[in-house]
Amino acid sequence: MTKTYSLPSLPYKYSDLQPHISEKTMTLHHTKNHQAYVNGANAALEKLEKARKGELQIDTRAVLRDFSFNVDGHILHSFFWPNMAPPGKGGGKPGGKLSDKIDKDFGGFDKLRTQFTDAAKTVEGAGWALMLYDAETDQLVLTQVEKQNNMHLAQMPVILGIDLWEHAWVHDYLTDRPKYIEAWWNVVNWSDADSRLAKVVH
Ligand code: MN
Repeated sequence: MTKTYSLPSLPYKYSDLQPHISEKTMTLHHTKNHQAYVNGANAALEKLEKARKGELQIDTRAVLRDFSFNVDGHILHSFFWPNMAPPGKGGGKPGGKLSDKIDKDFGGFDKLRTQFTDAAKTVEGAGWALMLYDAETDQLVLTQVEKQNNMHLAQMPVILGIDLWEHAWVHDYLTDRPKYIEAWWNVVNWSDADSRLAKVVH
C-alpha cells in the first residue's frame, strides 16, 4: 500500500482564535471539512491504484478531478492553519523581510491590506484569496482561487491566504462575509508568512 494523506494537527487550540473565529467553526472546519478532503484524496488514490491493477473500472476523468479537488483542499488547509495565530501573537503588521517586500511591491502594508481585502470580498462563491511569490518577476502577487481546484496553476509559493468557503465563517458571521474578512486580519500569523517568504527569497 502506498503512503496516504493524513490530517495535520493545529498549532493552537480550537478556541484560541476567538473572538474572531469561534471554537465551533475551528472544530468543524478541521475535524469535518479538512478531514473530508483527506479522506477524499485517499479514496481517489485507492481507486486509481485498483484501476491500475485491473481490479476496478473507473471514470478516469471523474476520479482525477476528485483527486485534485481533495488534494488541493488538503494542501490549502494544511497551509491555512499555521498561517493564522491567536490574537496578540497574530494580527497587527508584518515584520522582517516580508514587511520590506510589501513596502516595495505594494507601497506599504495599508495598500496591501486594502487590495487583499478587496480580492477576498470579490471571490465569487466558495474560494480563496492568496498572496503568492512570483520568482520570475521577484514580486508578491495576489490571486483568487475559485473553489480550490486550480492550485496546480499556482506553482508560486503561497505566503498569505484566507479561506472564504462558507464553512470558514458562516457559524460566526451568518451572511456577513466582509465582517469575517475584517476580523481575520486579527489572526494573521505574520511570522509564519515572513518565514515562508524567507524560504524562497534569498
Ligand atoms: Mn475550508
